[in-house]
Amino acid sequence: RRISDLLDAAVRPPRAALPLPNLRRSKRGGAYDYLIVGAGFAGSVLAERLASAGNKRVLLCDRRPHIGGNAFDHRDEAGILVHKYGPHIFHTNSEEIFAYLSRFTAWRPYEHRVLAAVGTQRLPMPINRTTLNALYGLDLRNECDTEAFLQSRAEPVETVRSARDVVINQVGSELYRTFFEGYTRKQWGVDPSELDKSVTQRIPTRCTTDDRYFLDRFQAMPLHGYTAMFENMLAHDNIELALGTDFRELKREQLATKIIYTGPIDEYFDHRFGPLPYRSLRFRHETLDQRRFQPVAVVNYPAAAVPYTRITEYKHLTGQVHRKTSITYEFPQAEGDPYYPIPAAENAALYKRYAQLADEQGDVTFVGRLGTYRYYNMDQVVGQALATYRRMDVGTTSAPEA
Ligand code: FAD
Ligand code: UDP
Repeated sequence: RRISDLLDAAVRPPRAALPLPNLRRSKRGGAYDYLIVGAGFAGSVLAERLASAGNKRVLLCDRRPHIGGNAFDHRDEAGILVHKYGPHIFHTNSEEIFAYLSRFTAWRPYEHRVLAAVGTQRLPMPINRTTLNALYGLDLRNECDTEAFLQSRAEPVETVRSARDVVINQVGSELYRTFFEGYTRKQWGVDPSELDKSVTQRIPTRCTTDDRYFLDRFQAMPLHGYTAMFENMLAHDNIELALGTDFRELKREQLATKIIYTGPIDEYFDHRFGPLPYRSLRFRHETLDQRRFQPVAVVNYPAAAVPYTRITEYKHLTGQVHRKTSITYEFPQAEGDPYYPIPAAENAALYKRYAQLADEQGDVTFVGRLGTYRYYNMDQVVGQALATYRRMDVGTTSAPEA
């Protein structure tokens, strides 16, 4: 199939009038085949697969009062669709993952663009030819010119190990300081030299003028939002939801023989080997009495002197027409909800100890960004959850009533 056909098909509205689950319903004391902890992508994909393909009875709990995990979106007081936990842009190279999610949502084609604020300039990020021409007043005309310019700036690093090495090796220390050093220190609370190279490898420099943030084959936003997509995913008679309910409250009730856990893995084991470090964020949401705030959905602020990392304006993502606009500032911090596992060697070593413990638990499966301590995007979590379901080798007969 051609990709455009798949997108065309997916852009059509979803089947009309899917029954919505009663999101607040929670019948305690029933017998379930699985208790799933966390109603984000990891938990919801597994709940959907187990309930519909596996015909299993699932109790899905989340300590938050809503489904969707960090991808949760809702209408704010002005009626603008916003993301409670910061901007979530869907992109994937996997046709399988895109096709799977397309069962639960239609899509709005959307290609993400980001500008970086450098002084009074707003420059394309990742660094591309336009960025360099504007920053240095150059006239680089093609990829060859640009490549040669970057090579003249690059400071080759023999073995690229850290997030700093990646950038210095590609573009040299000046561009590193302008675009990466301050942003990364703010975002992660440590110097880029202490972070795994995978962190800045997410943002490779380009010699072209392509200013899209992602180059994936499929880039789109759920047409009616993420929460609506999750509602469709969880609308199944075999799935019962317990929202605003912490796993700790359910643990002793022996509601199911098997558990799928998508919360922080160190918390599951009561931090036995010490806490795994996570990075958190404080979000400042604002609604402004104007139609537009900034030219693209996200503007990054790499300067160390600015306390936030980026500002998001949601109407660019959703295409919503409204006379006001809503934006979110992100202020990184150590304390608070765990949003990012921190990719660094010592943290990976500590995670490995927890993962060994996890392997020894016959009846618990750990999945997701927090459950497996991986800096995963949404599509990677969906892929991981689908692969986990396949490995579980679930029969289609439900267990008898207890
Ligand atoms: P989560 O969404 O974190 O879900 C885990 C759930 O478990 C939570 O709802 C939590 O409340 C619940 N839970 C934890 N412990 C318990 C407990 N003891 N009892 C009950 N419930 C519990 N990805 C992209 O692809 N594109 C993006 O643009 C993008 N932007 C992002 C921006 C930000 C600011 C952040 C933080 C992440 C972003 N991501 C993005 C990543 C994306 O959010 C994750 O990949 C995805 O949401 C992870 O899903 P999950 O199910 O593993 O975890
Ligand atoms: N980064 C940066 N400057 C930028 C954008 C990104 O230094 O303008 C670095 C920073 O370390 C960031 C990482 O690249 O954490 C990955 O960026 P991405 O936009 O993928 O972060 P996320 O959306 O996951 O927060």
